[in-house]
Amino acid sequence: MTDSAPKFDDFLPGGRLAAVADGESRTDLLGLTRTELVREMEALGEKRFRADQIFNWIYFRGVTDFAAMTDISKPLRARLAESFRIGRPDIVTAQLSEDGTRKWLLRLSDGNEVETVFIPEEDRGTLCVSSQVGCTLTCSFCHTGTQPWVRNLSAAEIVGQVMMARDELGEWPTPSDDRQITNVVFMGMGEPLFNYDAVAAAVDLIKDEKGLNFSRRRITLSTSGIVPEIRRAGAEMRVMLAISLHAVRDDLRDDLVPVNRRWPLAELLAACRDYPSLSNARRITFEYVMLKGVNDSDADARELLRLLEGIPSKINLIPFNPWPGSRYETSAPERVQRFGEIIRNAGIMATIRTPRGRDIAAACGQLKSESVRIPGWKRRGESKEGHARA
Ligand code: SF4
Repeated sequence: MTDSAPKFDDFLPGGRLAAVADGESRTDLLGLTRTELVREMEALGEKRFRADQIFNWIYFRGVTDFAAMTDISKPLRARLAESFRIGRPDIVTAQLSEDGTRKWLLRLSDGNEVETVFIPEEDRGTLCVSSQVGCTLTCSFCHTGTQPWVRNLSAAEIVGQVMMARDELGEWPTPSDDRQITNVVFMGMGEPLFNYDAVAAAVDLIKDEKGLNFSRRRITLSTSGIVPEIRRAGAEMRVMLAISLHAVRDDLRDDLVPVNRRWPLAELLAACRDYPSLSNARRITFEYVMLKGVNDSDADARELLRLLEGIPSKINLIPFNPWPGSRYETSAPERVQRFGEIIRNAGIMATIRTPRGRDIAAACGQLKSESVRIPGWKRRGESKEGHARA
């Protein structure tokens, strides 16, 4: 890590890193909390109920043009359009896998790019959203981890991925049943708990009953194990939790998921044990990537059972998706089966994830964009020399 690289504490509440400001002069209403929306309307001299009307148009109907807001007078619509916009990320590419998985490469207002994936299954449709451009962490099995962290996404950029997917799948107004997108998982690029405030604001919008209306039980935060923020998320967001576990010993997990050096297994599992409202119907998902000869022995499976004792759990075994330059091989299918059997025989739910979207590199841990970190002087349009003298 260089001196300017972000450190763990930079991301914790009150840390120095925040989402970048949008270059557009009009305020983007997307991503504002209900309170912020009321404040914007009051600043225009409008009553609070206007905020409710606009919220409905944005999040229930998916409208991006004020002209379509037919229960608002024409002069007010024109004033709104002068001061505000309702943003969406630009779609750079949209790919459709032969198994129905969709992957979008999205360009944000500052030119950075992230990926969003939709995975349709028989009984559900999962939208996998990104929370950061790149990732600060360097989990050794993960392709995204080879892309350096560029910046955190704002709440608008996170919720914008859900809005974009609903646009693309023609899911407006918000369907009450028979939805294509039934679940939202924060399992795309980045560590969501290193971008806590924006993720929490986006979750609030995603679960708002008068808008996108996803129940808490259908929103999952997937974390590598940021213990203080797991505790905070349990108290505040109360959504479902998935842990990228991948190893049952600290020495191995230090290598596979380096954040383990800061919050080792004992601390992580204690936070999981304390996560509120756990029950057989509300379990923590433990993600476990199967790496040949590394973490896939019978003894590993038995140790996993011992570690998770007392935590309502389900285990998701993920056959490793190789990427160019990766140093691991995927476990043989019989090994994965055997590992799963040991867990199931102990009465714990274990599923083996079928790789999805392999032909479009949309599988777990494969997301990566071309975005790179641009130094501040370049973003501000200064020359390097000018910057050096300043
Ligand atoms: S697994 Fe998640 S936290 Fe680890 S490098 Fe990949 S994106 Fe980052």
